[in-house]
Amino acid sequence: MTVYLDNNATTALAPEVREAMLPHLFGDFANPSSPHGPGMAARRAVGEAKAQIAALIGARPADLIMTGSATEATHSAILGALRVIEETDHRRDHIVTTAVEHPATLALFDDLRLRGWRVTILPVNRDGLPSLVDLAAAVSEETALVSMMWANNETGVLMPVAGASAIAHAHGALFHTDAVQAAGRVPVACGIADYLTLSAHKMHGPKGIGALYVRKGAPFHPLIHGHQERRRRGGTENVPAIVGFGAAAALAGLWLDEADLTAFLRDRLEHGVLARWPGAVVNGGGTARLPNTSNIRFADARGRPIDAEELLMRLDRAGIAVSMGAACSSGGNEPSHVLTAMGLGKAQAAASLRFSLSRYTTAAEVDAVLSELPALHARLVAA
Ligand code: PLP
Repeated sequence: MTVYLDNNATTALAPEVREAMLPHLFGDFANPSSPHGPGMAARRAVGEAKAQIAALIGARPADLIMTGSATEATHSAILGALRVIEETDHRRDHIVTTAVEHPATLALFDDLRLRGWRVTILPVNRDGLPSLVDLAAAVSEETALVSMMWANNETGVLMPVAGASAIAHAHGALFHTDAVQAAGRVPVACGIADYLTLSAHKMHGPKGIGALYVRKGAPFHPLIHGHQERRRRGGTENVPAIVGFGAAAALAGLWLDEADLTAFLRDRLEHGVLARWPGAVVNGGGTARLPNTSNIRFADARGRPIDAEELLMRLDRAGIAVSMGAACSSGGNEPSHVLTAMGLGKAQAAASLRFSLSRYTTAAEVDAVLSELPALHARLVAA
């Protein structure tokens, strides 16, 4: 049995989602742009799925653009907005984000800096929160856009997106939020944002499908040209994946009511780990977090950071899958940019593991993790 606690990297496809997708992988294969009956049926299926996704964030289906990933959605939002601003408002040459964003945003900001944009990267405090006072000081009539994630993928920390959006808008700047980890785990309302990024595979949907919400009237220029998605994103629609995303969003909406259960299991895990591992500390534990995420820093009896990679490997051998920070940076030698931005030293960041639960995580699985810990503690701390 594998205990899978890496749901912020990706989640298992829900059986209901698989069932919804199957007809579109085999029999119903028509192109939604085709004018015949099967094509129109595919088009209807896409429309229904978009309505399901839109309902999760309080949007209209017409406000959504389906993309090949959340990374593409974020690129479309930011590049699409800036392209218009560049042409219409030359004063605005400044963009703002935070030090703890996903690389989908941070790497794009690096590239935009090279292309001449003035970039402010907001620092975060020990809990991973940027200060709205810092943001208010940074934003001006020269700011084109502010991008702040709704919830951090490594720590689960919920970011002050409503306040950040209000500050951006007060100066006429646009506001983008990456809600990939938040949607389906906490209530997410698109109303605060001009652009909002979503991904199916973090909510028990398929990989390779994302969505971008664009507020009606917000500036937008397509990244990929073509007639699909009302000329806002070219390329034949991935109908099975879009239908799967719709089914996943519908389930996620129902499961939001059960978020307390996930938080209960997460707390059981967290308290259990802290009780069995003296000196362990929750990164970001001092502020509100997603109900499914716990990022824990391990230390020896004298408070010295241990090597979490060793712990991860030993847990893996025991059939327990967790991660060190983000999936994409795991395996590399670089310490997590999120944890170092929170003020942790390299060794402390390298002593941290992320446990991320899902709707399918059980109490028995949590207890299986806890039962491994005393032996691992004895081995790693005594070693
Ligand atoms: N944003 C956040 C917060 C994420 O956690 C991820 C995935 O890890 C992404 C964006 C990128 O998602 P995708 O790989 O689907 O493009």
